[in-house]
Amino acid sequence: MEFVTGLKCVFCDGVYPPRYHTCPRCGIQGILDVQFDYPSIARRLTRRVLAARREPSHWRYRELLPIRADSPLPLLTVGGTPLMLAPTLARHIGIQTLYLKDDGRNATGSMKDRASSVGVVKAREARRKIIACASTGNAASSCAGMAVSLGLKSVIFVPERAPEPKVTQLLIFGATVLRVLGSYEQAFQLCQQACEKWRWYNRNSGINPYLVEGKKTAGLEIAEQLAWEVPDWVAVSVGDGCTIAGVWKAFRELKTLGLIQRTPRLLGVQAEGAAPVTACFHSGEPLQAIEPRTLADSIAVGVPRNWKKAVLAVRESRGAMINVSDSEIIDAMRYTGRLAGIFAEPAAAAAVAGLRRAAQEGMVARRASAVAIITGNGLKDVRSAKSAVGGPFEIPPDGAGLDDILTEQELSAPCRAPSSPAPR
Ligand SMILES: *Cc1c(COP(=O)(O)O)cnc(C)c1O
Ligand SMILES: [Zn+2]
Repeated sequence: MEFVTGLKCVFCDGVYPPRYHTCPRCGIQGILDVQFDYPSIARRLTRRVLAARREPSHWRYRELLPIRADSPLPLLTVGGTPLMLAPTLARHIGIQTLYLKDDGRNATGSMKDRASSVGVVKAREARRKIIACASTGNAASSCAGMAVSLGLKSVIFVPERAPEPKVTQLLIFGATVLRVLGSYEQAFQLCQQACEKWRWYNRNSGINPYLVEGKKTAGLEIAEQLAWEVPDWVAVSVGDGCTIAGVWKAFRELKTLGLIQRTPRLLGVQAEGAAPVTACFHSGEPLQAIEPRTLADSIAVGVPRNWKKAVLAVRESRGAMINVSDSEIIDAMRYTGRLAGIFAEPAAAAAVAGLRRAAQEGMVARRASAVAIITGNGLKDVRSAKSAVGGPFEIPPDGAGLDDILTEQELSAPCRAPSSPAPR
């Protein structure tokens, strides 16, 4: 907290001391934003200092995180995920340069680890022994895993339709799991009440201003990994809106600190059946809650808590919001796997699908460079993945029919080694 100066409400602009989670004047609507002393950080955090830092995880940006300098950190590795060129996928999407930020490679398999890792540190700082969260899956499993890593207990409220692999993952981490036979919104409300009643630390990132700060490290890493030359666009899928708000904050901060010269435009992507933030972005009106309907469970949010921060972020970046259908998401899961070798969960593939649609509609220029953040690993929701690819060929142990299958797959020609080494 060395460099934190206060918390500013996104609605009334009031600035409050760090003990609040939401604005004392606006209530639960009043999402707060952590303010930092950037001139002091700028003296400490230069390109040279960062280049010399050995720490590969997101704690390398510690000055920009709202935690005490002496707080114990989780041992699980968070951040430092690969940013890789995907030229074949770029061609398919119809843009010149595409990088994928593979955040499915975080400790528990999603970019939620960036937020949860800050959450558990804050819980310890507040001397709480139990951390709670309501989530459709990734925030939950991440919260449970990070809690283990810092010796905390976790209580998790999941909605009825949370995918089984994610629920199993948090049971493995020893969380107390309460499956609410209802919607995410109902699970969220129950969790809020329980946190107040039992004085548990509340990890819900729409409410807790510190968690968004954890998410911003994805943006900090993208800039540093590209040697401080940001792409034209960064595509992020949007549920509650915390991720895109965090990523924008990263670029804004880096510009303030003089580490980058310009900022990228943000492409916020929602699923057609769960697009209240896109609606706000286009109408300029306040949020209208909806009943979410999409297979992309991680962005199936009907009452996004952070819609305001998300809309402001996309506007400030001179970016855009776009919706994609579930069938575009399924297609994107398939071609991202086949053309880039990355297995993305539906909400993560949505960012790629959105970029493709934005390129087709001329919103993103053909000459543009872009980063798509792969927010979660596809193994977290195998049922959706199966619907994208069908099943394997089945053959008897004697191999009958194998020749026909290989001929049909154009795999029956004699095998030759590639004439030149594969590009690296
Ligand atoms: C949470 C999540 C998102 C969206 O993040 P928000 O902060 O809810 O907007 C996208 N993809 C995956 C895989 C997620 O888990
Ligand atoms: Zn306020």
